[in-house]
Amino acid sequence: MGSTSALSAVAKRLQGKVALITGGASGIGEATARLFRSHGAKVVIADIQDGLGRSVSADLGGPSDCLYVRCDVTKESDVRDAVDAAVSTFGGLDVMHNNAGTIDPYSPLAETDKSRFERVLAVNLMGSFLGTKHAARVMVPRKRGCIVMTASTSAIMGAATPASTHAYVTSKHGMLGLMKNAAAELGRFGVRVNCVSPYGMATPLSEGVLGGAGGSARVEELFEAYSALKGARLTVEDVAQAVLYLASEEAKYVSGHNLVVDGGFTTTVCSPAQIDNPFVGES
Ligand code: NAD
Repeated sequence: MGSTSALSAVAKRLQGKVALITGGASGIGEATARLFRSHGAKVVIADIQDGLGRSVSADLGGPSDCLYVRCDVTKESDVRDAVDAAVSTFGGLDVMHNNAGTIDPYSPLAETDKSRFERVLAVNLMGSFLGTKHAARVMVPRKRGCIVMTASTSAIMGAATPASTHAYVTSKHGMLGLMKNAAAELGRFGVRVNCVSPYGMATPLSEGVLGGAGGSARVEELFEAYSALKGARLTVEDVAQAVLYLASEEAKYVSGHNLVVDGGFTTTVCSPAQIDNPFVGES
């Protein structure tokens, strides 16, 4: 992970802010925790991977700067306690990043288990609802705050990538609806709500369903093959930068927005003109 600890006080965009990141022990959440800390925020990592969560917390200054709390986002009491821990430890909550996520292996509809479908919705969608609900509980009285959810290109398209299972696509589409409705209600209280929607990249989540024996290299190869923007590869740090923008003062009038970080994938991939044009790629 790149460190930006050399940032001057002026360049720090979250100085004095408190952020809670669900799923902050790994992947996009971990990268966001690192970037937020480098920009001066106090961070709470809420996850179910205790070993990883504690080690990221220790690396980012320990509990006085970056607190790890065990929190299963499908359990309302865990989410409530995580939000309360941010307030009691660091004095408030400015940024809620609903980022914890899961995915199931692809299966045709007829073979998709109800319980597996429910599990994906419980983590991705219900977890985001609970995070939004409890963040709003402490942000509304203070008349400020910002909620960011990690959605996906699967929030806008069906069958976007080989990892687009029925449950995953449904859960991510639901998150966009939640974001819009929450932005409408919470805007009156000065609270902004947005989504960030990345294209695919190698993380434990994607490697678990797509990597097989090939691991992260296989996942990167797959996403590269489908990507619309060549010569660049999406990383967790790129997504963290988008979350930082939405969380910062630079985005003070941005709410109800889905910031797509996909190299143009969702707006170009279906164009036969791009795929079949014999001149594309000629120097
Ligand atoms: P990741 O596996 O590295 O991180 C996911 C984190 O969520 C893990 O630390 C995991 O322990 C945590 N988590 C899972 N279930 C939880 C629960 N019930 N309670 C609390 N924490 C839980 O994967 P990632 O790719 O960084 O995923 C982060 C988010 O990004 C997810 O919402 C995912 O859907 C989204 N996303 C990922 C990709 C991709 O290609 N990797 C693309 C678009 C969107």
